[in-house]
Amino acid sequence: MSGEIGEHCGLMGVWGNDSAAYEVYLGLYSLQHRGQESAGIVSSDGRTLQSRKGPGLVSDVFHMDDFKRLPGNHAIGHVRYSTTGSGRIQNIQPLVVEEIEGLLAVAHNGNLVNARTLRKQYQDKGAIFETSTDSETIVHLLADPQHRNLPDRLAHCLGHLRGAYCFLFLTNEMIVAARDPNGFRPLCIGRLGNSTIVASETCALDLLKAEYVRDVLPGEIVTVSDRGVETASFGRDCRTRTSQCIFEHVYFARPDSNVFGENVHKVRVTLGERLAAEHPVDADVVFAVPDSGLSAAMGYSRGSGLPLDLGFIRNHYVGRTFIMPAQDDRRSSVEIKLNVVRNVVEGKRVVVVDDSIIRGTTSKSRLDQLRRAGAREIHMRISCPPTRHPCFYGIDFPEASKLAATGRTVAEVARLLGVDSLGYVSMEGLLSAVSDPGAFCTACFSGDYPVLPEEEMDKLSMERKIC
Ligand code: SF4
Repeated sequence: MSGEIGEHCGLMGVWGNDSAAYEVYLGLYSLQHRGQESAGIVSSDGRTLQSRKGPGLVSDVFHMDDFKRLPGNHAIGHVRYSTTGSGRIQNIQPLVVEEIEGLLAVAHNGNLVNARTLRKQYQDKGAIFETSTDSETIVHLLADPQHRNLPDRLAHCLGHLRGAYCFLFLTNEMIVAARDPNGFRPLCIGRLGNSTIVASETCALDLLKAEYVRDVLPGEIVTVSDRGVETASFGRDCRTRTSQCIFEHVYFARPDSNVFGENVHKVRVTLGERLAAEHPVDADVVFAVPDSGLSAAMGYSRGSGLPLDLGFIRNHYVGRTFIMPAQDDRRSSVEIKLNVVRNVVEGKRVVVVDDSIIRGTTSKSRLDQLRRAGAREIHMRISCPPTRHPCFYGIDFPEASKLAATGRTVAEVARLLGVDSLGYVSMEGLLSAVSDPGAFCTACFSGDYPVLPEEEMDKLSMERKIC
């Protein structure tokens, strides 16, 4: 449910292109849905690294003149929503550090479940951290004198990390991409002429007119340099089960992307069809909560034979900088973002399809809008099972007690929302929409965590007051 879940991060890298920074900038535009808090690009001309980053959307942070200050044929970029650490300026990525071998830029997507422990170990030894993010941990692991001379230094250091990570590293000699052995987050490789591209989602390759080559595999390190593309694997054995985030398909990724080998729109349509089979209802019209519910609503319409219409219209111009109304203002931010098409709704029995219910407050406001517009019956259909558990791997769900479905039956959630009926896709239905069901994490629905956190997880757990 858009508006209730924090997005996480998006990564983009280009090696061997005259306008590398600009290509990264275009790619970050495509990945904006993965994080709207800040954006950054670091480029290399083979001699030094240059960085430009700031808070806000890609369009807020970069201006044409910036690309003159980001020279070189190689660049990486990042869009961020903070799942660990606040939005303070030092936390904006890519991070740039100077280690003994030279300058290094790091961009991270995911969430580490043992970062606080590792951070404490290094702080006890005298290390100084500049950020309050989990991402900085890898810098200290790499700089550790015990690791510095290891032949497989990066693989060894990544082996210390637990949880979800895709990393992009940039030096003057190479771009390195790495994906954790569980493969929680997506990362793909593309080709544009002689340039190599790495991106969180394939929609970024499309915008660059780059050809998709393959995904970075779980537990793989891909090094791109003047020597070409080299790969190494780490952290996996025959018992390692991947746990790719199924929520990427349900909500996060863009429908035009292929993630984990499957088109997101197609998976969502299948979920909608399954929803129609599992929870049919006698109604007049079906529509989506835009935008993330659109594909599943199409599937529900196909599966049920009910006509698909537009019940809500989204105002695409309400950005992050929108000033929230005062508490006593009777116009809510939900209403400013989404309006009802009264003509479609009035006097009708409507089926509303959404991707998820998180806290339930946003859903409730939207459903109230439908009632006020004269909907006769409201039947809500959700294209995933009830979300009852927090995510420790980079999706910013609230704690369990704040999730609408935690401790409530489906009938109780329906009462909370004030709908005539409520149906969620079953776990079997969810997994039937992907071709390799055993390869996915479903912990936010099942509570079955593939990597247990080693410490209490809190977004601001590494934050201290800075004067
Ligand atoms: S817990 Fe849910 S949101 Fe988090 S990685 Fe697993 S499936 Fe994705």
